[in-house]
Amino acid sequence: MPAGRVYLVGAGPGDPGLITVRGAEILALADVVVYDRLANAALLERASKSAERIYVGKQSACHAMGQADINRLLVDRALDGKSVCRLKGGDPFVFGRGGEEAEACRAAGVEFEVVPGVTSAIAAPAYAGIPVTHRDLASSFAVITGHEREDASDRSDLPTGSAEQRRDWATIAHAADTLLFLMGVESLAEITERLMEHGRSPDTPVALVRWGTLPRQETLVSTLSEVEEAVRTAGFTAPAIIVVGEVVRLRETLRWFDNRPLSGKRVLVTRARSQAGKLSELLEAAGAQAVEFPTIRVVPAADTTQLDAALGHLGLYAWVLFTSVNAVEIVRDRLASLGLDARAFGPVRIAAVGPATEQALHAMGLKPDYVPSEAVAEKVVEEFPAPWDIAGRAILHPRAVGTRPLISDRLSEYGVQFESIDIYESVPDAGDVDELVADLEAGHIHVITFASSSTVRNFVEALGAERAKRLAEKCVVACIGPV
Ligand code: SAH
Repeated sequence: MPAGRVYLVGAGPGDPGLITVRGAEILALADVVVYDRLANAALLERASKSAERIYVGKQSACHAMGQADINRLLVDRALDGKSVCRLKGGDPFVFGRGGEEAEACRAAGVEFEVVPGVTSAIAAPAYAGIPVTHRDLASSFAVITGHEREDASDRSDLPTGSAEQRRDWATIAHAADTLLFLMGVESLAEITERLMEHGRSPDTPVALVRWGTLPRQETLVSTLSEVEEAVRTAGFTAPAIIVVGEVVRLRETLRWFDNRPLSGKRVLVTRARSQAGKLSELLEAAGAQAVEFPTIRVVPAADTTQLDAALGHLGLYAWVLFTSVNAVEIVRDRLASLGLDARAFGPVRIAAVGPATEQALHAMGLKPDYVPSEAVAEKVVEEFPAPWDIAGRAILHPRAVGTRPLISDRLSEYGVQFESIDIYESVPDAGDVDELVADLEAGHIHVITFASSSTVRNFVEALGAERAKRLAEKCVVACIGPV
């Protein structure tokens, strides 16, 4: 990637899947990532680990950094020989001030590239089931700023408010069949009044789409004459796109995103951070908003002597029993550190408890010989294939500290030697308890999920038994496994 260059990259409207391929490529390679509020934080995970990340804020009234400072920052880093990804919400040239940033680069002799993005002006309505054009209802659309004051005021060569005064309502009112206002929630009263004053019918349908393309998207539908009051009553706030025009009616039939099975539901995920992502993704695919509050953290044992010795003669065991994905992954990584691979298993038979554990083995190219019908210790023992045949031989069970001894106790009764090695520990972890409690108190969490007994125990510990019980009663509680 050429150094000393600024890339003005559209991050898309919110859903991290809506960044472009080119944008993601640059994000992954850049030395410096400069981002603001409307660029989804999840995208930053795609940046290189060593990249310098700089938040420059941007919320109409409170800028973390003024535009002049941002321009200087971009130019300075590029002149230092760095590749700079300037990640901007939506499209960088739609009210993103990307134009000014490009001008600053040009003025300083810094090369730049523009990577267009999916603009919220079109995407937010789309996710609300509103196409901005339609053969029967609208043959044009216009994108208009609802409020330019702040944006104009810190540009030194323009008098304060000059951009705002540029808006010519007589023209805007009839600029297109569909009018799309950005940054307009705070001046909604003025917008609707001016449009009616200049001849748009008070019955014209209006929609506001807030946090479009994200699981927390909300949409309010009304008319030009009534929307201002509806927004006030609903306490509807920015950031939102205001859509004015007949196309809004199509939402009734084309709504597709915010009516999925779990739309509008906030679901707490208590799994370890390293494992939460997959569950969160599935929940979000069904429309939910996943709220991650990891209650455990997986810590591999520091002392690997015992495990290393066992892996060194893996082929001598009758069975290896895996009861978690963590165990599979730690063994895989340990084998690699020892310069070994899946062949080390040789003729050993492999047992896997739980479908995820089975999948983790598949990913290593290993097919378990035995998977009990249910992921509980009792079943593992009950269905274990012919344990009497392996009397005198050994089963290796790499496992978590504190695993119930039921399997080893029962199988030992057949004269099997059971070798359990504690290879990792799930230690309690807790994020911001106060914030979570406030959310639960307010009824903002609808479902709490638990994927293991230790997550339940740690959740209760983090909140205190009484409080945990009281707050959990406000929610649906979902769990995996009878234990
Ligand atoms: N360059 C951006 C727009 C920046 S101006 C783009 O192309 O999308 C900021 C305004 O964009 C906000 O005030 C709001 O009106 C709108 N906006 C950005 N993201 C949004 C989203 N996810 N949902 C609704 N409106 C959004």
